[in-house]
Amino acid sequence: MQTKKFVGAALLLFAVVFFWNLSLRREVSVRRDIEQKMRFMATHDDSTKLANRSLLMERLSQAILQHARHQEKLALLFVDLDGFKAVNDQYGHDVGDQVLVKVASLIKQTLRQSDVVARLGGEEFVILLPMATEEQAWHTAERLRQQIAALHWPSPVTAHYRQTVSVGLSLQTADYDIERQLQQADQALYQAKQAGRDGIQWFVAESVS
Ligand code: GH3
Ligand code: MG
Ligand code: MG
Repeated sequence: MQTKKFVGAALLLFAVVFFWNLSLRREVSVRRDIEQKMRFMATHDDSTKLANRSLLMERLSQAILQHARHQEKLALLFVDLDGFKAVNDQYGHDVGDQVLVKVASLIKQTLRQSDVVARLGGEEFVILLPMATEEQAWHTAERLRQQIAALHWPSPVTAHYRQTVSVGLSLQTADYDIERQLQQADQALYQAKQAGRDGIQWFVAESVS
């Protein structure tokens, strides 16, 4: 009789500990999911799901540390949609948003997993290509430019509509200054706009005479 009671109590204790442990594991897993979602939301753009500026800067710092060791260069592409204000004015802001999402998704699909694509706000995207040569960076920019221009748009953005982009390129600076390299890509983008849009420009340092 005593043994039966003891076995019964032991089984009950085992069941309590088992289910308590199970519920704890569930709670930990739910919390981990919530934390991952919150981290994703804090580091990504809500509408395009691309990395935001803070994640881009984090990835840039990591890449620079890694590549400085191997003496490989990082390329930055600054991509800006041409005449995008007119899309909003002509078709409305919602359609403008759809254009942005479609362009963002094409950029993401076209690049490799190791490349980082970020939306810096508005209709501007920055792409980080690790281990890139000048030829590779130019080739990637040209492929993107052509593929975006060839996108098909459903009504009300008609089949006649062609969204082009301008791209500024910069290669890693000797002093590994991230902000400077971003500024240089931005300057190159400005040159691409000045040159008539739907084109690509490398950053060229102004010569001091
Ligand atoms: P440019 O060729 O010189 O780049 O001309 P642009 O019209 O693209 O440039 P501008 O800077 O004059 O306008 C950018 C426009 O992008 C203005 C703003 O209405 C639009 N825009 C910025 N963010 C968003 C967004 O999240 N959604 C939509 N629909 N429009 C946006
Ligand atoms: Mg623009
Ligand atoms: Mg812009």
